[in-house]
Amino acid sequence: MNQDLHQAEKLTLSEKRLMQRHSRSAMAIMAMHTLLCVVYFQLGYMHIALSEALVLVSLVWISLLAYQLLMATGVTLNLREPSLSLPLILYFIGVFMVSGYYVDEFRLSVVTLFFAALLMVSFRLSGKVMIAVAFLASAAYALMLWLALMDRWVQLSLSVELLQWLVFAMISVSFAVTGGGVNRLRNALADKNRDLANAVEKVREMAIRDDLTGLFNRRHLLDILERQRALAGRKGVPFAVCYVDLDHFKKINDRHGHDWGDRVLRQFSELALSGMRDGDFFGRLGGEEFLLVLPQSDAHGALLVAERLRQRWREQRFDAQGGPATVSLSVGVADYRDGESVDELLNRADQGLYKAKSGGRDQSQVA
Ligand code: GH3
Ligand code: MG
Ligand code: MG
Repeated sequence: MNQDLHQAEKLTLSEKRLMQRHSRSAMAIMAMHTLLCVVYFQLGYMHIALSEALVLVSLVWISLLAYQLLMATGVTLNLREPSLSLPLILYFIGVFMVSGYYVDEFRLSVVTLFFAALLMVSFRLSGKVMIAVAFLASAAYALMLWLALMDRWVQLSLSVELLQWLVFAMISVSFAVTGGGVNRLRNALADKNRDLANAVEKVREMAIRDDLTGLFNRRHLLDILERQRALAGRKGVPFAVCYVDLDHFKKINDRHGHDWGDRVLRQFSELALSGMRDGDFFGRLGGEEFLLVLPQSDAHGALLVAERLRQRWREQRFDAQGGPATVSLSVGVADYRDGESVDELLNRADQGLYKAKSGGRDQSQVA
C-alpha cells in the first residue's frame, strides 16, 4: 500500500521536492534582482544613498536566508502550505516595489522578475489566489508609483509611467490566469495518481486474498513458501509449516447448511489470525484447509503452535447460535529440509495430516 502511494507521490511533485525547488528558485530570482539593482546603482540610476541601499539589501537577504532555513529544516512540513508560497510572493512584491521606487528610468525592468516569482508559486497557489496576488501587485506598483511621483515629480513623465504600470498589470494578470491553470493541472494529476495507486492496491489485494476469509490465498501462500525456501537456501533460515484441516466439515455443511460452514470458516480465520506471532503467515489453501508458515521454527516449535491453535479452536462453541457444538481440527506439521521443493514440503505436511486424521482426528502430527 505504502509503496504504491509513494510511487504516486513521486509522479506528482512531492511536498519536499517542491520546497527545495522553491528554495532554489527564490535564491536565484533574488540573486538576479540584486545584481540588476547593483548594475543600475553603479550606472547612477538608483536614487538611493549607498548606506541605505546596503541596509535594504541586508534586510532582503537575511529574510531570504531565514526562508531557506525554514525550507531546509522542514519545520513547515505540517502546515497546509509547507512551501509558504503566499508569504513568499508577498515578500517578493514588497522587495520589487521598494527597488522600483528608487529607480525611475528603468522602473518596469527592475520589477520584471516578479513574473518569474509568480510562475514559481503557481505550482502551489490556486487560480483565485493567483489573480488576487496579481491585483495586489498591481496595486502595490500603483502605490509605489504614486510615492515616487510625489517625491520626484519634475523628472517623471506621467504618461510613460502609467503606460508601464498598465503593461505590468496586464502581464501580471495573464501570468496569474495561466499559472492558475498549471496548479489545477497539478492537482488533477495528483488526484488521478492517487486513484490509480488505490486501484493498483485493490487489484493487488484481490490477487493475493481469499474472498471468503480475506486471508492470503493459495497462490500467495505458494509465493511465500518459495521466498522462505530461497531464504533457507541462502541464509540457512529454518522454517516449518502447519497444514490445518477442519474435521468432518462435510457433515457440518450437510447438517447445518453451507452458510453455517462459511461462518465457521470465517470464525476460524479470525481466531487463528488473532493468536499469531509477528512474522508468521497464515492463509487458506482452499475449502476447509489452511496453512501456517512459521519462519525461524523447527518441527518441534511448529507442533507447539499447532497444538495451541487446536486447543483454542476446540473451546469455540456454536450451538448457542444454532450451529454445531464444537468443530475440531487436525494438523500435519513439517519442517523444511535442505534442497526439497515446496511441493515436497507440502506433501510431507499432508502425510502428517493423514496421520492425524487416521489417528482419530482432533490432533497434530509431525510427518
Ligand atoms: P475430514 O475430517 O476427513 O477432513 O472430513 P471433511 O468432511 O472435512 O473432508 P472432505 O474433504 O471430505 O470435505 C471437505 C468439505 O468442506 C467439503 C465441502 O462441503 C466443504 N467445503 C469446502 N469449501 C467450502 C466452503 O468454501 N464453504 C463451505 N461452507 N464448505 C466448504
Ligand atoms: Mg480437506
Ligand atoms: Mg476436513
